Amino acid sequence: MGGDQLSSIVTLTGTSTPTPNPIRAGAGVLVQTGGMNLQFDAGRATVMRLAAIEIRPLALDAVFLTHHHSDHLQGLDDLVMARWISGSLERSVIDTRLAVVAPDGPLADILEHLLDPWREDFKVRKLDMGGDTEPALNTTLFDAARTLEVVWEQGDVRVLAMRVQHDPVVPSVGYRVESPDGVVAVTGDTSVCEEVGVLAQDADILVHEAMLSEAVLGSTRESVMHYHSDSVGIGETAKAAGVKSLILTHLIPAPEQFEYGVECYEAAIRSGGYDGPLVVGEDLSSVEYG
Ligand SMILES: [Zn+2]
Ligand SMILES: [Zn+2]
Repeated sequence: MGGDQLSSIVTLTGTSTPTPNPIRAGAGVLVQTGGMNLQFDAGRATVMRLAAIEIRPLALDAVFLTHHHSDHLQGLDDLVMARWISGSLERSVIDTRLAVVAPDGPLADILEHLLDPWREDFKVRKLDMGGDTEPALNTTLFDAARTLEVVWEQGDVRVLAMRVQHDPVVPSVGYRVESPDGVVAVTGDTSVCEEVGVLAQDADILVHEAMLSEAVLGSTRESVMHYHSDSVGIGETAKAAGVKSLILTHLIPAPEQFEYGVECYEAAIRSGGYDGPLVVGEDLSSVEYG
């Protein structure tokens, strides 16, 4: 983003779940603030959604991961390799490693081996492109704390993390991005919990995963409801935390899959007591702040 941009912006790069949906990429949120492009999770097709808003993989300053569910990670190797290829072709780019910040735990092993299936591809591409480097991550692991802790800082921007409730997927964290323009909280996957209230206290924008319990049918109920967030509870959380603007993502089920889907999500949030600006997310929905 250029220095002439007056405000910061949050863009949903993917609003889906593991269920394939032709209009929704896998989970991801881009926060552009303080001259930084910060990506939170990288589900399937993240590079395509970023390309649609002219954010090249090389333009990302860091990627933050919330937990080790595949729907939040499936686009990560794509991002790393696209960054390397475009950087290698540009010659002027010396370090194409992608900075990845993640809670220590199962993600450590996933990240260590993320690029293993592609070693033969790297060999032939290196020959083609005449360079010495290979795609790589620059990984920072942190201990997922039960209180807000700073996990990344650069310039005027700092990112804090704390655990949320997505058991048995442990650890699962949410993030809080603080900059002179304001505060954005990103829940990752979580049930409605007090921790999100701490993450999102007085936030300008809260990006919250969302489920509409009455629309979750059949066998799916058993498997998803215990560790995702009913929208009435999200409305209660957002109101209690003094959130200024609320964006719903990771929608279970997707609102286009049932009648009056968007209106039903809105009604549930309102019945929880939150009455501020609300976006029932689509891919590339964006909200400015600051
Ligand atoms: Zn998920
Ligand atoms: Zn999950």
